[in-house]
Amino acid sequence: MFDLVLCNARVLGNEDADTVAVKGGRIVYVGPEVKFASTRAVDLHGLTLMPGFIDSHTHILNLGLSMNRLDLSQETTREDALEKTRKYASKSNAKVVVGYGWDETLWGEKDYITHKELDFTEKPIMLYRKDMHMAVLNTSAMKLSGISREAGVFSEESMRDVQWLSKPDDAEITAALKSAGFRAASEGITTVRDILEYRTMEFLMKIGFPVRVFGALYDREYARQNLTKERWWGIKAFLDGSIGSRSAAHEGWAPDNLKFSSEALRNHLEMFWKAGMPVAMHAIGEMAVNQAVQALADQKGPMRNSIEHFELVEPETLEKVGDSTILSSQPNFLQWSGKGGLYENALGKGWFGRDNPFRVILDSGKHLAFGSDTMPIGPNYGIGLAVNSPHHYQKITLQEAVSAYTEGGAFLLGRECCLGRVKEGYFADLVIQGEKYGKDTKGIRLEKPVATMREGILTFGTWDSIGSRS
Ligand SMILES: [Zn+2]
Repeated sequence: MFDLVLCNARVLGNEDADTVAVKGGRIVYVGPEVKFASTRAVDLHGLTLMPGFIDSHTHILNLGLSMNRLDLSQETTREDALEKTRKYASKSNAKVVVGYGWDETLWGEKDYITHKELDFTEKPIMLYRKDMHMAVLNTSAMKLSGISREAGVFSEESMRDVQWLSKPDDAEITAALKSAGFRAASEGITTVRDILEYRTMEFLMKIGFPVRVFGALYDREYARQNLTKERWWGIKAFLDGSIGSRSAAHEGWAPDNLKFSSEALRNHLEMFWKAGMPVAMHAIGEMAVNQAVQALADQKGPMRNSIEHFELVEPETLEKVGDSTILSSQPNFLQWSGKGGLYENALGKGWFGRDNPFRVILDSGKHLAFGSDTMPIGPNYGIGLAVNSPHHYQKITLQEAVSAYTEGGAFLLGRECCLGRVKEGYFADLVIQGEKYGKDTKGIRLEKPVATMREGILTFGTWDSIGSRS
């Protein structure tokens, strides 16, 4: 007797199968229709069934906080963002009004928000830029922090010095994680590798989060004795900043954008490797990317380190990427890759269409894992950008993009035994997409999933809503 049988499914990438059976949270059958006895049988009427997404780079707590606090990611003009901030601030009782997600480049502008635009109130205001590498504080917030910066703009280390202003209390953390968990499941995500603080993991363990989480702890918080293998994947280290905040290690930008000398990086990494912890190295500019690749070049053995973002990549650097290195990239970053977009404006013509070279990475046979960096969360959005990219350095097929968002992530986590595929013996982490999923991706943004399940149990959607489809 099976727990669940899904029939009449279009199993993505497996044309011979239309039926999947689940028992004890695992997939026990994938193939043509057979009559099975089961507790529940669901006719998918041709809907697409695929492995649950593995988002290899998330910030779950920030996602939830942005949902529950002030979210500026959907505002299409500067004035809209400021208006929303004014309205929100007038009603807010918070000690500090905290907002997320503003991005001047998506408003077709080059100037960051400044403290003056936020000085309409005595309440302290702190607004994080979308990349979370920069925040703007109004005068009251600067006074409260005891630090002031020109135009109220804080980036990288200076931002970290004032980050305590936005620190959530316990109730806020719990509520934020609940919001974020629901949102992630609704996007078809069943597993994430989250970049987080130790405290956040403690909350995640307490609240029964709907998505399987593997943690990457910020290096500054590293405390070896506390990291258990089941929950923690490894460590996150920063080699540079971001393109939007002009803090990436890019030729011609500030030399101190590169955080480590090669020797200091080596020592830093050795400390974690000796403790058996792989490292996720944030590297965006070509100099940081090159440094990360060099640092990993002679790493052998089972440990799977990753390079996060891997945006500006010289061909000779790519050649040196070793077999146990995973390139952990964000297809949704292509939102900045078009004509007149952030990449072109910030980097000039030389890199146009050459950033985030997914096609070249795959053609060179390197390991690629996709993640969203929660900008925004939602794999289908990034997949849509990668499969529709006008640039041949970037454009990949739907199957390749889905594979980077499923099998690629499983490999990164060392869980290719049991996650990321619709295959017998694997966990029944599955997504049900619309019937037309990916059939015509030309210019189409792939729709949100109909249902998501983890180990055969729905984390998003209802059986009724699927069964009642005609
Ligand atoms: Zn990130």
